Amino acid sequence: MMYNSTRDNSVRVTSSQAITQGISKDGGLFVPEEIPALTLEEISNMISLKYPERAEYIMSKYLTDFTGDEVKECANLAYNEERFRHPDIAPLHQLGDGVNLLELWHGPTCAFKDMALQILPHLMRVSASRTADGKEIVILVATSGDTGKAALEGFRDAAKTRILVFYPEDGVSYMQKLQMITQEGGNVAVCGIKGNFDDAQSGVKSIFTNSRIAKRLEANNMMFSSANSINWGRLLPQIVYYVSAYCDLVARGSIKLGDNINIVVPTGNFGNILAAYYAKKMGLPVSRLICASNKNKVLTDFIQTGVYNKNREFYTTTSPSMDILISSNLERLLYDLSGRDDNEIKRLMSDLATKGEYRVSAAIADSIQSLFHAGWCDDIQTADTIKDVFKKNGYLLDTHTAVAVKVYMSYREQTGDNTPVVIASTANPYKFSASVLQALGEDFESSDEFAKMDKLYDITSFEIPEPLLSIKGKAVRFANVCNPSDMEQAVYSLLHIEG
Ligand SMILES: *Cc1c(COP(=O)(O)O)cnc(C)c1O
Repeated sequence: MMYNSTRDNSVRVTSSQAITQGISKDGGLFVPEEIPALTLEEISNMISLKYPERAEYIMSKYLTDFTGDEVKECANLAYNEERFRHPDIAPLHQLGDGVNLLELWHGPTCAFKDMALQILPHLMRVSASRTADGKEIVILVATSGDTGKAALEGFRDAAKTRILVFYPEDGVSYMQKLQMITQEGGNVAVCGIKGNFDDAQSGVKSIFTNSRIAKRLEANNMMFSSANSINWGRLLPQIVYYVSAYCDLVARGSIKLGDNINIVVPTGNFGNILAAYYAKKMGLPVSRLICASNKNKVLTDFIQTGVYNKNREFYTTTSPSMDILISSNLERLLYDLSGRDDNEIKRLMSDLATKGEYRVSAAIADSIQSLFHAGWCDDIQTADTIKDVFKKNGYLLDTHTAVAVKVYMSYREQTGDNTPVVIASTANPYKFSASVLQALGEDFESSDEFAKMDKLYDITSFEIPEPLLSIKGKAVRFANVCNPSDMEQAVYSLLHIEG
């Protein structure tokens, strides 16, 4: 299977090239030429498989230039009990009432980004061995909080690889920041940005596509790649857990093979929900994809109107990993729904770059509305949902998952749609202890993050994950902050090469 650029159909690369390069030179994103099919019989056969085997099965359909053994090795190295704190890797928690939470946060950094970033370094190693020509890979990351830490943890001390992470200085939770600035490893660096996630992401994207900078790296025998969800190697592993959740529902007797489910995803960069879309397109029986946003509801407005407009106020919310106004992966969906019309995508993305706004054709808008439902909620509703679910079910939601639960509850009320549902639970609540404590109505004044975690544990008895506990007392290694306009210079200095 080959991969095209969403902005140029004449670009055709292997999966190894797509993964090593991260983004196409024209600024487009790599997409598989066609989405492979997954039959009900295949799904049925996957039910008895363990998570790494399910991953191997799905991913082999896309990584056709990897050997079967290579895919298997990658899956086994990533999805095991040394890396994940749960034997099922991505377990389903039955909340009751046909609602299932797909817990994607049992990995080393306690957010769903680990599901892809534990395996991406292995995929990258195999890919680079074929395509990187001996160059050192420099992974540049822009993060809204969780990708940064997950990528650092995944790539730390990986051979012939360096990783640089940019995060919005004031746009991540205290725990997220602490996780990043204390990162260990000899090939890692972290830098705060005086700006928001969109500034960091735009900066990184423009460094990637700048040929002058690429030449400078080449002169040092280095090349850039990406660990953001613009990289196909980030999206592919995310398709797996939706199929896996479906298998588990059948195994448990909650649904029969072939029954439809709905999927709800708390959304920022549109990566996670796009993976659910690909799973549906492969043949997974899914009726509705429900896209949940916080107050930065650019996607809700887009899905409801067909107009994407990023010219609006940016809000800092209690679900910071969704504080995004430019959802990069939407480009892949539009490409698919336009019938792979690269010229149309180029036009839309150029409108976005120059006017901050685009309108899709009526045909695309219609298909989007038949596939997706979109909703949003604010911080108060998010907090109320955390409190209600804890009271009613004794289960502690993080702020992002709470947005999804709230949007789903409203959807079900409005539509009466009682289809069994899988809600992506994207982070452990202890990553956002201050907001979760506040949601539970606890006025706990302390500047000590670990005291807040302890307090939250006292109230809820919800287990504190070991990787968050063990940050206590770790030394801060990366205190530097720069302006978005100085990111290029920061890259050179972090790489110790001449600017
Ligand atoms: C990244 C993230 C999201 C948003 O996922 P996208 O793939 O960017 O849409 C939601 N919740 C949490 C906890 C995250 O870390």
